Amino acid sequence: MENKININDLLLEELEEYIEKIGEKKFHAKQIYKWLHKIGVTSFDEMTDISKSLREKLKASAYILNMDIIEAQVSKKDGTMKFLIKLQDNCAIESVFMRYNHGNTICVSTQVGCKMGCKFCASTKEGFERSLTGSEIEGQIQTVQRYTKERISNIVYMGIGEPLDNYDNVIRSIKLINHPMGLNIGARHISLSTCGLVPNIYKLADENIQCTLSISLHATTDEKRKEIMPIANRYSIKEILDACRYYIKVTGRRISFEYALIYGKNDTYEDAMGLVKLLRGMIAHVNLIPVNEIKEKEYKKATEKSIESFMNTLNSCGIVTTVRRELGSDIDAACGQLRKKYIDKNL
Ligand code: SAH
Repeated sequence: MENKININDLLLEELEEYIEKIGEKKFHAKQIYKWLHKIGVTSFDEMTDISKSLREKLKASAYILNMDIIEAQVSKKDGTMKFLIKLQDNCAIESVFMRYNHGNTICVSTQVGCKMGCKFCASTKEGFERSLTGSEIEGQIQTVQRYTKERISNIVYMGIGEPLDNYDNVIRSIKLINHPMGLNIGARHISLSTCGLVPNIYKLADENIQCTLSISLHATTDEKRKEIMPIANRYSIKEILDACRYYIKVTGRRISFEYALIYGKNDTYEDAMGLVKLLRGMIAHVNLIPVNEIKEKEYKKATEKSIESFMNTLNSCGIVTTVRRELGSDIDAACGQLRKKYIDKNL
């Protein structure tokens, strides 16, 4: 495989170039692209409208990305499925499949592990291994669709890893997913979540991809944010919000702010009012997440009562706020939990 190219990673224009380079007619690229990205085949021999000789030529110089499901957990409560997926170099990542009224949604990983070090997050516990390629990100959708035999219509980049720390490959994956000859999922059905890598928020705005941007805020002052998110030492809340305003101006899309409610840490009335002050006047939506208690971390979930009053305070001040429905609460559905268990078991 060493000298072969990963054919799934090529955008249509690149695939056309490659096909011409191996001495074939460009139009075959469209056929191949459809097989790879619309149908999601796992071998060249399934490409039945392509001559045997071209298939052999492809096999000699390229390979099809295959990702295997190591473990699938299904929630008995709501049908949410969590997958542990093995990559070709044996690294393991997670993807979560969720059924919502507006369609099937997948939560994809963008890196193997994470460098960001957020105190409450399991993804970062085992450190950082490597970034995923664009096709490994898109491949999670292909792999899960193949397994569930159900079509996925929405994608959230909220799995393991920091999407804006793997910028080029994340953009490549969005282009692969967007393409009408592939999965054909519009950018408006894609949400990307970041802990706030400010320069890349500006860069993303300028790509003019219409995806929804989510910001993991989790605190309303820089001091508090630094206690739970090391990235706060690099960028202030003000810098993040300025970048958000730019994103809104360029794309016309509202921003979603994620706020994990941690007992006794960021769940008071003052915190809620702090958030109101920060977001007033911005086209924003707040998503409250009762913090998922992971084994290794000291943080506890805020109480039902404090979650509700936090939400009411925001809503009554005109900030549209919802509490994220906890899907898959009976399986290891929070970021990085399943992978962490797998690593612990296999060490
Ligand atoms: N690195 C990106 C995306 C991955 S995490 C980011 O930081 O946005 C997706 C969301 O889940 C983030 O808002 C993250 O802060 C949150 N999250 C991680 N661990 C959590 C936990 N234990 N409980 C609640 N939310 C958590």
